[in-house]
Amino acid sequence: MENNTLEKEVVDVVVIGAGPGGLTAALYASRANLKTVILEKGMPGGEINNTADVENYTGFSLIAGPELAQQMYDSAMRFGAQHIYTEVTGIELDGQDRLVYTRDKVYQTKVVIIATGAQHRKLDVEGEERLNGRGVSYCAVCDGFFFRDKELVVVGGGDSAVEEGVYLTQFAKKVTIIHRRDQLRAQQVLQDRAKANPKIEFVWDSVVEAIEGQDKVESLQVRHVKTNQVSTLKADGVFVYVGLIPNSELFNQLGITDAEGWIITNEKMETAVDGIFAVGDVRQTHLRQIATAVGDGSHAGHMAYQYITSLND
Ligand code: NAP
Repeated sequence: MENNTLEKEVVDVVVIGAGPGGLTAALYASRANLKTVILEKGMPGGEINNTADVENYTGFSLIAGPELAQQMYDSAMRFGAQHIYTEVTGIELDGQDRLVYTRDKVYQTKVVIIATGAQHRKLDVEGEERLNGRGVSYCAVCDGFFFRDKELVVVGGGDSAVEEGVYLTQFAKKVTIIHRRDQLRAQQVLQDRAKANPKIEFVWDSVVEAIEGQDKVESLQVRHVKTNQVSTLKADGVFVYVGLIPNSELFNQLGITDAEGWIITNEKMETAVDGIFAVGDVRQTHLRQIATAVGDGSHAGHMAYQYITSLND
């Protein structure tokens, strides 16, 4: 049971998270005259703030991530949605009401739209934690600048690893992409770009077993998974892009996630609990893009209106 002495605010819709999915859901809900609040503990825009250039969102041939985030935020706020900078601490069901707790307020609402996204998975190897921020990074856009003329390693073989690897070549002398298989998972267009870049080298069938260095990253222990041979690779920095884990811990007790924590919805973004919807990267889906999050958000914002109307009938 959460703290009952908190100030209470009654609203129609609470959106948790202000990435592209959450912002779009808020836009649709507020434009349908629903009293909508967006609760976000970080920068509105979510992961796009950590993306240098967006080139696959229709309508923008090429736009800087933070600029797109700002434009999305501005358009989402046009119809009266309220943005609160706060962290959600819990959620409870109370009949048809859903109670969303923050440190200083509880929101009583009919609809909750979960748009909490996902975070980068850690490698979980020796040295990773200790050297985090001292050469180990999960954000090329944030930290790439510090590695001018340095030798970098990127771990992973998906869109993020390959795209960010290419991005890092504008600073680094050399970027080595270490992947655990001999084929990349990334989209072909990104693969082609990386393979054509003279600053990029690939190390196939290999995993990082340790990150070493006194006060900053100096080298990595890399094991070839077919021969089991371990070698030392010199590097000034390591960028880890080995997939995502959902930000869904808060919602575990609702029974709406799969075994890995991704939230299960139908095509209307409804979860197994009435009045609770999920959108964007936190959802169990096979494609995580700005465009898919925006599509999810429009569904959920629209369905919020339908759901509240059905309660009033
Ligand atoms: P991802 O697609 O899940 O790829 C993760 C990569 O890391 C895979 O290649 C995987 O290898 C590897 N990996 C996983 N665990 C590992 C471990 N413990 N050690 C070593 N390697 C490991 O994740 P992502 O690249 O972060 O992308 C996340 C989502 O965002 C995807 O849906 C992606 O399409 C999307 N995204 C899109 C764009 C774009 O459209 N421009 C850009 C970035 C991200 P295996 O291949 O062997 O499984």
